[in-house]
Amino acid sequence: MSDYEGALNIAGESQMVAFGERLGQALSAGVLLLSGGLGAGKTTLCRGILRSFGYGGAVKSPTYTLVEPYQLDHRCVYHFDLYRLGDPEELEYMGIRDYFEPENLCIVEWPEKGQGILPDGDLRIEIAVAGDSRNLTIIAMSTLGQKALDALKSGTLINAAESG
Ligand code: ADP
Ligand code: MG
Repeated sequence: MSDYEGALNIAGESQMVAFGERLGQALSAGVLLLSGGLGAGKTTLCRGILRSFGYGGAVKSPTYTLVEPYQLDHRCVYHFDLYRLGDPEELEYMGIRDYFEPENLCIVEWPEKGQGILPDGDLRIEIAVAGDSRNLTIIAMSTLGQKALDALKSGTLINAAESG
C-alpha cells in the first residue's frame, strides 16, 4: 500500500461517526469524494464530519435536491448526493463552481455520476460492505489530501485498525 493510501475496517455506525469526526479535523476544507453502493455508510460518515464542526442535527442524503448546505460558524459545508443526477451537465446549470471555493468543504456521494464536470477531489474514500462492518480505502488525490491522510495515519484509529 502506497503513502497515498490507507485502509481500515470500521464496525458499527457509532464508530463510523467517530471516524468522520477525525476526518473532519484532518480535512476541514476541500473536496471529499465518497464512493460505495447504497447503504455503504457515506451519509453516516458525513454526519461525523459535520459533528466535528459542531453540527449535531440530523443529516440526510440530499438525493432529490442534490445538495444540502450547512452554514456553520467557521465554514460552509456542502453535502452533495449525485445518485439521481441524470447528466453531469446538470451540475453546470446548478452553478457548481460557486460551491467549490477552496475555503469550503464539499462532500460528494456518488461522485461517479458527475464525472467530467465535478472538480477533482482532494481525498477519496471507497466504502465496501463487509458483513456487519465496512472496509474503507482512503486515497489522497492532492497535496491537501495527502496532508489529511498523513494526519489520519498519525492518529491512533487508522493505525490500530489498519488492515492493508
Ligand atoms: P449511504 O449514504 O452510503 O447510502 P448510510 O450512511 O445511509 O449509507 O448508512 C446505511 C446503513 O449503514 C445505516 O443503517 C448505518 O447505520 C449503517 N452503517 C454505516 N456505517 C457502518 C459501519 N461502519 N458498520 C456497520 N454499519 C454501518
Ligand atoms: Mg447517502
